[in-house]
Amino acid sequence: MAIRDIVLYTDNEPALRKKSEPVRSINRRVKKLIQDLKDTLLAHPEGIGLAAPQINVPSRVIVVRLGGKGDGSQELGSPVALINPEIVEARRDERDFDGCLSFPGLYAETVRPHYLKVQGLDEWSKPFTRTFEGFDAVLVHHEIDHLDGILFIDRVAAINDLYRVREDKNGELVRVPVTAEGV
Ligand SMILES: [Zn+2]
Repeated sequence: MAIRDIVLYTDNEPALRKKSEPVRSINRRVKKLIQDLKDTLLAHPEGIGLAAPQINVPSRVIVVRLGGKGDGSQELGSPVALINPEIVEARRDERDFDGCLSFPGLYAETVRPHYLKVQGLDEWSKPFTRTFEGFDAVLVHHEIDHLDGILFIDRVAAINDLYRVREDKNGELVRVPVTAEGV
C-alpha cells in the first residue's frame, strides 16, 4: 500500500501539462502504479478519479470510482483502472459539476459528454470497450483529459463558472465565485 503525493497545480503545473506515454505492457511497474493510484484515490474520499500524471507519472493510466453524481450523495464503486483509454464516441454534451484533486477547494461548471464509449486495456491486460453515461462519462472524460495535459480549468467557459465552497455563518455550504475574492 502506497499513498502518493498528489501534484498540485500551484506547485508543479508542468507535470500536469505533459502528454502521457502509452503503456506498452502491464508489467510489475505498471501494476504498482495502478495500486498506488487506487490507494491514493481511496485516501482522498473527496475525489472520485485520479490520473497517473497527478502522481507525477506520465503514463496513460487512470482510476475511477463509478456511480457518483458529483454531489457526494452516492455509494461509489471501488476504484477501476483503465489503461491506454481512447475515446471512440462522445455524445450528449451537457453542463455539470467539475473539480480536481490537483485543485483543492476549487470547483466549476463545465460542459462535457454524458455518453462516452471508450476502448483500452483493463488491469489484467484484457482489451475492453465500455460505455459510460451520465456523471460517469463526465468523470472518465475528465481523467482522460489529464493524459493529454488538459485540465478542468481549460474547459471553463467563463470565469464566473469557477467557484470555491465555504461555510457561511450558519454552517451552510455556499458557493463563492472566485471573482469575488480575486482568485
Ligand atoms: Zn483532475
